[in-house]
Amino acid sequence: MLKDRLIDLRTDAVAKPTVGMREAIARAEVGSDQFREDPSVSRLEERMARVLGKQAGLFVPSGTMANQLALKLFCQPGDDVIVGRESHSLWHEMGSAAALSGVQFTTVGVDGMFTAGDVEGVLKPRGHMLYPPTSLIQVENTHNRMGGWVWDLAQMREVCALAREREVATFCDGARIFNAAIARGEDPALLAGPFDLVAVSLTKGLGCPIGSVLVGSSDHINKLVRYRRMLGGTMHQAGIAAAAGLYALDHHVERLVDDHAHARLIAEALAGVPGVSIDLDRLETNIIVCRVPDAVAVAQYALDAGVKVLPFGPRRLRACTHLDVSREDCERAADVLTAAVRSCTMTAPDVDTVLLSGPGWPTPTVQL
Ligand SMILES: *Cc1c(COP(=O)(O)O)cnc(C)c1O
Repeated sequence: MLKDRLIDLRTDAVAKPTVGMREAIARAEVGSDQFREDPSVSRLEERMARVLGKQAGLFVPSGTMANQLALKLFCQPGDDVIVGRESHSLWHEMGSAAALSGVQFTTVGVDGMFTAGDVEGVLKPRGHMLYPPTSLIQVENTHNRMGGWVWDLAQMREVCALAREREVATFCDGARIFNAAIARGEDPALLAGPFDLVAVSLTKGLGCPIGSVLVGSSDHINKLVRYRRMLGGTMHQAGIAAAAGLYALDHHVERLVDDHAHARLIAEALAGVPGVSIDLDRLETNIIVCRVPDAVAVAQYALDAGVKVLPFGPRRLRACTHLDVSREDCERAADVLTAAVRSCTMTAPDVDTVLLSGPGWPTPTVQL
């Protein structure tokens, strides 16, 4: 299989800027964002805030930095942060919450989501002699590692109402909040509504090369300008990147329905293969996480046939659809993946061992 025919489903972040987006980037009006004078950045921040129903926005280099900034804003070292199982902050940010903000995480729930009742069980009060105070509750919508699952709006409202009652801040890691909104046919502002602060990624389904936007109250955003600088996230003529975000809001939101349909196409094909386990009812967006007999063997077979997917565990596999894969690509990927599973002669141990190398993953080269 030729390299240029590779269908890369490892993550939606691999999508490259389209010709139209590159033209928008080339035309971008820029200024000094350090002095808050970049017109494209300001437009993107204002627009994202409006779309998500908040007062103000802040453009930052990455979703990881957005998540770190939420911790800087709401937490003191030693504080406790409540998160769902397998959240991005826990698994994909290199321990930066501990390293940079000195917080600890308490994980609740079983499926990446949790109820107000779950929170009640672990929420620790301020001013207690023994307990680390809970200062933040974090919700990931859609939930990446669980398979792009969408949070129930009523459940988010209950969690956030309890948080407000207990004077605990709320943050939505909404890297894929537009996927959630499109999947449910909801106004994204409604999904952002319960939270004090929301982060949205430009580089996932929206297909931009760089950046995330945080939205919240003007007071919070003003404070975040300082913390962004502290973390080295202040950029200069960042309008070059912000222009892509503005373009994406015009052109790449509605089309997320296609990514969702493509993911379903692959998932339904896989679900029919003996040995595959996948929750089709909860598959509403662009991420497929399924159990297969041997994730490494499947990923290797697929790679040899020109399809890249990520093994997450010995029997757990992830594939994401995005802007750069067409319906035909996904039909081919479905054929390749189903053949890959059928070719499995061995079954890997049915355990949730962490597996962070293998086909699809870059070879680790640095030991820190
Ligand atoms: C990708 C992702 C992020 C981080 O985004 P980067 O820009 O890659 O740092 C944060 N949260 C979730 C849920 C994500 O999927």
